[in-house]
Order: sequence, then C-alpha cells, then structure tokens
Amino acid sequence: MSTTEITVKAPNGKEISFDTGLFINNEFVKGSSSETLTSIDPATEEPICSVEVATAADVDAAVAAARAAFANPAWRDQTPEQRARLLHKAADLVEAHTEALFTLQALNVGKPFPSSMAQEGPHTVGCLRYYAGWADKLHGQAVPVSKDKFGYTLRQPLGVCAAVTPWNYPVTNAVWKLGPALATGNCVIMKPSEYTPLSALYLARLFREAGYPPGVVQVLNGPGQSTGEALVAHPGVDKVAFTGSTATGRRILKSAAGQMKKTSIEAGGKSAFLVFDDANLEQAAKWAIVGGFSNAGQVCSANSRILVQKGVQQQFLDIFARMAQASKVGRPFDAATTQGPQASKMQYDKIMGYIESAKSDGAELVIGGGRFEGVGDKGYFIQPTIFKGVTRDMKIFNEEIFGPVLAVTTFETEEEAVDLANDSTYGLAAMVFTENIKVAHRTAARLQSGMVYINESNNVDYKLSFRGSKQSGLGSELGESGLDAYLEEKVIHVNLGLEI
Ligand code: NAD
Repeated sequence: MSTTEITVKAPNGKEISFDTGLFINNEFVKGSSSETLTSIDPATEEPICSVEVATAADVDAAVAAARAAFANPAWRDQTPEQRARLLHKAADLVEAHTEALFTLQALNVGKPFPSSMAQEGPHTVGCLRYYAGWADKLHGQAVPVSKDKFGYTLRQPLGVCAAVTPWNYPVTNAVWKLGPALATGNCVIMKPSEYTPLSALYLARLFREAGYPPGVVQVLNGPGQSTGEALVAHPGVDKVAFTGSTATGRRILKSAAGQMKKTSIEAGGKSAFLVFDDANLEQAAKWAIVGGFSNAGQVCSANSRILVQKGVQQQFLDIFARMAQASKVGRPFDAATTQGPQASKMQYDKIMGYIESAKSDGAELVIGGGRFEGVGDKGYFIQPTIFKGVTRDMKIFNEEIFGPVLAVTTFETEEEAVDLANDSTYGLAAMVFTENIKVAHRTAARLQSGMVYINESNNVDYKLSFRGSKQSGLGSELGESGLDAYLEEKVIHVNLGLEI
C-alpha cells in the first residue's frame, strides 16, 4: 500500500480504494509542499477527502519523467501493435472498474450514477478501443515529384502532452485525450480540475496496471492558476490539450505562444436548438431535455438557446415544460434521479446569478427559477428552469450558464432563425428540428458551429469528431481527425539521381 492510499465508502455501498498522491513515474508520491485540495460531495456539501497538490517543483519532476519516458526505448520503440495492445488492456481495466470510476465521479460531481453507467461507461471504453484500433493505421503519404525525385511523409508523436481538463465529465474528458495521445506514442501529464481530482487518480492506477512504462501517463492535481499554469508554461511540455472555459483557453494560448507550443482548445458554448413549425414537436422536446438538462445542464454543447418558430411556440412549450417538470431532481445514487446537484457551490451561485439576471432583464419564467428544495437543505440542487420571451440583448441569450436553465426565443423565418443562431461569439454545436430535408441541410450548412445535429441533440459518438468553431475551440477531439492533435507531419525529400 502506498502512503497516500485511502478508502471511501459511497452511498451505493461501494468501498473504493485509491491514491491521493501525485502520480509521477508510475508511483503515487506526496507533493513537495504540504498543500492539499479537499473534494466536496455536492449532494451533501460534506468533504470526501483531500489530495496532494503539485507545486512548480513537482511539475518539473513529472515533466522530467515524461521526457525520459518519451526517449525510453520501452515506449519509443513500441510497435503500433504493441501500442494498440496496451490501450486495449487499459480499456479492459476501465471496463472492469467502470462502477468504481463512475461512483467516484457521482460522489465528486453529483452526476447521476445510473446514467453514467448506462452511457459514459460504454462510451469511455469504446473510445479507448476505437483509438487502439488507429495505432497501426497512422500512415503518411508517398508523393511522386519527378522522374528523379519523390517525397514521403511521416506522422510522428509530438512528445510530452499536458492534458488540462474541466470538472463536468472528469472521466470522459480524460479518456478523450488519453486515447489518441497514447495510440500515437506520446506521453501525457493529466491536470484534472481542482474541483474533481479523484477519477484521474483512479485511472492512473489502471493505466499502470495495464503496463504503461513509468512516465508515460502521469497525474498532477492542483489549482489552475498555480499547477495548471506551471505545467502549461513548462519548456519541457511540447503540446497542450485543453478543455475548459473560453476565458482560460485564451490564457493558455497566450502562455503557449512564447514557445509556439502545439495547442488544442475545446472551450465553451451557447448552442442554438432550432425548432421549425413542421418539426415533430414531441421528439424535439425530448431531445431538448436530453441536450439541455443532462448533467444538470453542465455540458459545453448544451442546447441552451431554444429558437422556436412563432406558430408552434405555445404547443412546443406546453410539451417541453411538461417533460421538464417530470425530471426527477435528486441524489446522484437514487435510481430514479435524472438530474443531480450542480457540481460545486461556485457553479450553483453562478447559475443562480443568471436566473436573477433573466428575471430582471424581463424574460418570462415558464417553470423552475430557484433552488430545488425536495432533497433537504443541503446540496447544490436547482430546479429545471425555462425562460421564454428571451431577446438578443439579454445576458442569458449570450453567456454560457452551464446549468439547468434554458432560454426560449421565437423566430418567424428561416433567415431569422439562422441569424439568431449565429448571433454568438461561441460556435460549438447547433441542432435543427424539421421534417423538411431541404431546410435541414440548408440551415446545417449556414450555421456557424463546429457540429450540427439534425433531429437530435448531443448524441456524441467517438467515431465522429467533436469540435467548436469561433471562440468554442481550436482543433478537434474524437474521430479520425482527433489524432491530428497529437501528431506532427514530417516531409522527407528523396533524390533518386538528380545532380547539381
Ligand atoms: P476552467 O477553464 O475554469 O478550467 C478548466 C481546467 O483548466 C481546470 O483543470 C483548471 O484548473 C485549468 N486552468 C484554469 N486556469 C488555468 C491556467 N491559467 N493555466 C492552466 N490551466 C488552468 O473550466 P471549468 O469551469 O473547469 O469547466 C467548464 C468549462 O469547460 C465550460 O466553459 C465548458 O463549456 C467547458 N467545456 C468544454 C468542452 C468541450 O469539449 N468544448 C467540454 C467540457 C467542458
């Protein structure tokens, strides 16, 4: 047993042992300072445990270990088949430990455990296997140039990658980076959110057990402003893969600029959900609930702006409000719960601020609008909330709320719908509901967003890339193009006899 191992008991009766140390060079160690982070259960407001915080000196140690691992033949010279086998082994272990991983997530984030087991579990395992399948298909090109010359390209790993992730899906966000980074032969230093440090520590054990050599996968916990900044700015880090808010994304880009580090950014969103008057309103409402209230609305691509054609607004709202009211807000381990608490007090207060701003800006409350009191006086629970009559000038039309608060605005024409949808600095996702195939494809092409869902919402699949345009991101994750973030192309010129 390491000096940092602890056991926590969850409300589902599961006892989970994991390490709270920094994971450096395949060992869990204490940080070089006495600083720790305390994780809070958002359903009870009680502390779960404390974990070690990485200082700049600890970041130095992890980067040195990663650099050594990248140069170590035990990792550098692995064949593509060996890299695939290791990633499949990690996927097997994640599959075997799904319950523990998502129990820790439910404790730390408040995300309902049954839905994570049903969806995120198979998704994360499938994602690792998908990228394991790519490990031996990373071809370059051969390009004939002339009778005396040809060229070819190699796609090579970048080196040491810092994977900086947010608190809303700590397991999934880690796996989205680990899969492609390891399939392509990189080393990864994970820096989870300071609000949700636990599941990455559990993942670290699994990757060690899978057989990754020391230094290939490491975990450093700590605040963004100190640990995160030290990691991102470190000269020994070759690439930063960031998921989080647009504001932090901008700071990371500035920090990476000094060394022109390769940087990929998955940032915030304010995704528009267009309901045309010929849409199947029942289906549209169901998808709006899934895409808007899942994970208590703490989803980057949440359909937080609902744009409805005027003639069907009332009919749509009647169905939508009825379904939203049937949501079961409750504790994350209760089987009936569809919406848990917000992940932290910080997020709860922020969302309540947006609800107040919507009220004072003159939006009309359809349902919700306050704390959910049905679970007792502890926990960061908020009612599913819908506002109508939302106009372009209101804060809740423009800013990412990241909570169970949806804004409904009406439009008259297709032109106006596209204009309203595109009136955002964000461009992550958009959703179009119509039975008219021409309207669907015409609007999909004109919407300024990295992803468009036709007659569905946020039905993410790891075989398709996940990407934002405008200030929602740079580069993409998932799918074949998700590999590009971790590879650099090299061009080899070959002279077959040309003399000068
Ligand atoms: P955040 O930007 O506050 O933090 C994200 C991560 O960055 C954390 O690990 C944090 O510690 C770290 N960080 C903060 N400041 C840093 C700095 N100066 N240098 C280095 N690291 C730093 O975001 P959050 O509140 O954790 O997450 C919510 C945000 O994430 C929302 O905006 C949401 O839309 C976005 N998000 C985007 C996607 C996507 O794929 N596009 C997915 C999930 C979440």
